[in-house]
Amino acid sequence: MPRLGVIGWPVAHSRSPAMFAAAFGACGMSDWTYQRLPIAPELLDETVRALGASGFLGANVTIPHKQAALALADSASDAARAIGAANALSFAADGIAAENTDAPGLLAAIGEPVAGRSTLVLGAGGSARAAVWALLGAGASEVSVWNRTPERAKALVRELGGRAVAEPVAADLLVNCTSVGLQRTASDTAVLNQLAITADQVGSYACVVDLVYGEHPTPLLAAASAAGARIVDGLDVLVAQGALSFELWAARPAPLQAMRQGARAQPS
Ligand code: NAP
Repeated sequence: MPRLGVIGWPVAHSRSPAMFAAAFGACGMSDWTYQRLPIAPELLDETVRALGASGFLGANVTIPHKQAALALADSASDAARAIGAANALSFAADGIAAENTDAPGLLAAIGEPVAGRSTLVLGAGGSARAAVWALLGAGASEVSVWNRTPERAKALVRELGGRAVAEPVAADLLVNCTSVGLQRTASDTAVLNQLAITADQVGSYACVVDLVYGEHPTPLLAAASAAGARIVDGLDVLVAQGALSFELWAARPAPLQAMRQGARAQPS
């Protein structure tokens, strides 16, 4: 019985089990399972090393373990190494292999070429690193990086490329890689203020991607949509990275439509 899962702490909120269950259903993979694996940081190393012997073929990795997952792996793809984080681990007899499907997943979710286009990334954490690496690799003409803490944006571009900016600049494509919009306690305007951006400015980007997802559109996507921009939400990105993870382990094309429906089903 091939086993998969998602490692996080906490991980109760993850939509990945529903997304993978839908994929298994669509492909007739009735003996495959995908479960939440809540693992505290101090137990990560020993627990992950035991997963292969427990029948796990692979596992996705989410907050806060993506960097530690890369560090404990026996081998890593160029993408995972350059980004400094892994969101997909494969367990084989010869060891644990680390992959990063967040970066190609973002490009797949954007769904149109970014080559020659100017881009602005908001944030300088783990997902921003994957976004900057992906956009530069895909030939974006410009990758600007704004972050609340400017030193982190400067450090990121020193390592990966792109340019740090003191305030959000005009671009063809905007990618929000901050966690702003996750908590819906503030007004939409207050949320946009945290990104140093106004609703009017949001309309100047032809395409707006928000990695944050929840039950409602984020204030950023609501403003972008109202202004006529094309929008890509966090669930689109989650599904795209999940589909690439599925293909890594199942070695067959991912049933994208079923995975979208599974990820978007209201959590019970
Ligand atoms: P992270 O490494 O913790 O980085 C968080 C980023 O958000 C930092 O740049 C931080 O800025 C910024 N930030 C946090 N609170 C802020 C505020 N009040 N105002 C302005 N900036 C703020 O997190 P991550 O792993 O990159 O993830 C970021 C978000 O993307 C999370 O919500 C995560 O769930 C989501 N995500 C979604 C997917 C998907 O598949 N859809 C994949 C990965 C991540 P400072 O440096 O100034 O602290």
